[in-house]
Amino acid sequence: MALKTSEEYVERLSRMRPNVYAHGKKIRRDDPMLEIAINTLRVTFDSVNDPDLKDLIVTSSHLTGEPINRFTALNLSTEDLYKQQEMKRVCCHRVGGCAQRCMATDTLNAIGVVTKDIDDAKATNYHDNFLEFVKYYQANDLVGSTSMTDPKGDRKARPSQQEDPDLYLRVVEKNSKGIVVRGAKNHITMGPYVDEHLVIPTRTFTTDEGDWAVSFAIPADTEGVKIISRIVTPRPRIELKAPYNQYGVADSVVVFENVFVPWARVFMCGEWEFAGRLALTFAGFHRHSYCGCKPAITDIILGATALVAEYNGVGSSPHIVDELTELMVIAEIVFASGIAAATRATKSSSGIYTPEFLYSNTGRYMAGMNIYHEYDILNSIAGGLPSTIPPEEDWLNPETGPDLAKYISRKPGISAENLHRLYRFISDFSCSAMAGWSQYAGVHGGGSPIMEKIGIRSGYDLESKKNIAKYLAGIED
Ligand SMILES: Cc1cc2nc3c(=O)[nH]c(=O)nc-3n(C[C@H](O)[C@H](O)[C@H](O)COP(=O)(O)OP(=O)(O)OC[C@H]3O[C@@H](n4cnc5c(N)ncnc54)[C@H](O)[C@@H]3O)c2cc1C
Repeated sequence: MALKTSEEYVERLSRMRPNVYAHGKKIRRDDPMLEIAINTLRVTFDSVNDPDLKDLIVTSSHLTGEPINRFTALNLSTEDLYKQQEMKRVCCHRVGGCAQRCMATDTLNAIGVVTKDIDDAKATNYHDNFLEFVKYYQANDLVGSTSMTDPKGDRKARPSQQEDPDLYLRVVEKNSKGIVVRGAKNHITMGPYVDEHLVIPTRTFTTDEGDWAVSFAIPADTEGVKIISRIVTPRPRIELKAPYNQYGVADSVVVFENVFVPWARVFMCGEWEFAGRLALTFAGFHRHSYCGCKPAITDIILGATALVAEYNGVGSSPHIVDELTELMVIAEIVFASGIAAATRATKSSSGIYTPEFLYSNTGRYMAGMNIYHEYDILNSIAGGLPSTIPPEEDWLNPETGPDLAKYISRKPGISAENLHRLYRFISDFSCSAMAGWSQYAGVHGGGSPIMEKIGIRSGYDLESKKNIAKYLAGIED
């Protein structure tokens, strides 16, 4: 059975070699510190039995015909791309933020496209390695990281010009059995609770930079891999339990200290001219994912803003209706870009459909540029209470709780508990460590806005627009 339960996922994590470091110490993957972050991933397993999600999340493997989790699937039609986008929007609603698991889906699809291109051009056999790996990944319902972003050192210097060549992950040895790699990947979401690290290059390389052009998959507890993590969780609740407070995230620096990778798990090694293509193909898939997940974040902001305005008795004030409409526009324009990217997807030589790069980028750019603006709308309409609401202990204390309940009251008919719940949620969601993480992820995840602008203009037919202007102006060259 290829569909695994969340218990099976957590159980296999507990069996892994401890190589995770968190907050100053080495921890096992069943350490309670990781529990809330792992809960987010559990949702992606448990949802296969959820009546609202199972039709989106369960699909079948084109390799084995078995039912599999869509987070492990390749996109073999435009329909698959739509479903990916829709699934991400719904999953993000469930966890109140990033559902995390899509990154590896996008990486797998990108590796699938580019390994076939390399084989077509160079008669290598990376695509066979890839397909064998996908069968294993799907059969075990695995979770992967996207280990793409190198430390990069001096941003103006190329990998081969860095003082320390390890600032971009590279191959330091090749032998008949495999390769040995050294370096690190930064910002790696889910690092402490993935089964596999999926490693891809972060940029283009030149002819003398083949050592840095490397892609592979490696079990996360392989000898030589060290995961230095940072865990972000919502503030704990005492009695006022709420779904939002059950889900967190962890990022990591993943260090590869002379790690051996067998050839069967290598997807690129030295083909520098395909490195940029792999990085950009991943970016195209992942920016398409953002066209599903970012509207979900906007939905949460929109819902919270509308509800707080309603509870305050100002829900129908024209300036508030106007701000809510602005949020609707942002959510749906980003989502529509994703639909456009799926509609205009092209079938690659591997059979995998790649979303149209222009629209993945326009959607992701709109999302990234608006993230703080969206929080700003919520902030201004919610008023100051999310930042000053007294701690839950004071609500539970019989000497202070009744005062707080009396003086939080707003529109008649809204209970003090519901007001308390809503303001505490908005506080946790928009005025907390978790909010800061989400905002930075909203800007930089999948590439900073400048990268989307570069993506948009790189293939854009600007000449045709100038020709329209020339035609209308009566200019003849
Ligand atoms: C919450 C979060 C989660 C993430 N998860 C993952 C993950 O799971 N896996 C993964 O691989 N990555 C992940 N990332 C990394 C993300 O893709 C990068 O943050 C992003 O690509 C920007 O890279 P950087 O952070 O190194 O910033 P930098 O590269 O330092 O870029 C910052 C700014 O510097 C400028 N700049 C950079 N280079 C140049 C140059 N050569 N010339 C001129 N200007 C330049 C640009 O203005 C750019 O916007 C995550 C990031 C965040 C914030």
